[in-house]
Amino acid sequence: MKKFIKKLIPRRLGYLLRRIYLSFRRIIFSGKKYYCPLCQQSYKSMLSGGFDLPVNNEMKIIGAGRRSNVVCPGCGSTDRDRLLYTYLNNTPGLLKPFVKILHIAPEPGLSKFLKNISKIAYKSGVKYHEGFYYGNNIPLFDILNLPFENNKFELVVCNHVLEHIENDKRAMEEIFRVMQPGAKAILQVPWSPILNETIEDPAITDPKEREKKFGQFDHVRLYGTDYPERLRKVGFDVDIVTLEQLKIKVDYQNKICIIPNEVIFIAKKPA
Ligand SMILES: [Zn+2]
Repeated sequence: MKKFIKKLIPRRLGYLLRRIYLSFRRIIFSGKKYYCPLCQQSYKSMLSGGFDLPVNNEMKIIGAGRRSNVVCPGCGSTDRDRLLYTYLNNTPGLLKPFVKILHIAPEPGLSKFLKNISKIAYKSGVKYHEGFYYGNNIPLFDILNLPFENNKFELVVCNHVLEHIENDKRAMEEIFRVMQPGAKAILQVPWSPILNETIEDPAITDPKEREKKFGQFDHVRLYGTDYPERLRKVGFDVDIVTLEQLKIKVDYQNKICIIPNEVIFIAKKPA
């Protein structure tokens, strides 16, 4: 049914309807308790989000699971988007005018912000994945064969993508290839801090089985604490940035609704 309705509504109209819907929510939820730095509006509450599956609790998965106060009513940003926005703003030298950014599977709120900074040097794209909203006019490309020359980008943002890709090593290598030496990539994935070795099995293709093992119907693995090592194997240096390192006060963490135990995986191409 959802598919049928989608076919009936042209893409441009769908975009317009979503904007009207978000404006409506912005008014309904307006208040003082919470603040979204991306749309710079305050709200009485944010919306719940994420999938409620046993594996999320069993494996203590960070970056997944059903959570309250996740989605901003006004711009649709998630807790993760607001964390990354805060990281980008608190890291000197990362954002400068015309910085060459590649944003893979762009989150709408974050995309608008990065595009404004980077101006003409912002590129985004995604491999089409049914059931997800990508915003209007997002080009489609193959993450295993990126349509860009070597050493092009100074910053890559690619969040919650690698867990969908069977050959994640190849995707990591492609990201590495298009980055300038010294460039940084933000590569967030859902991961389990109690799992020493990533679980993956290409034979598991049934959505229900994937939900059970990996935490989402279309995930092909669950990353463990070896995730940074997998990035190092393709040549990256990896930094794991915590909220303490970012010096985000607990009051402010609560105000903008970000997950206290989330860390940011920064993969650097050696200079
Ligand atoms: Zn917002």
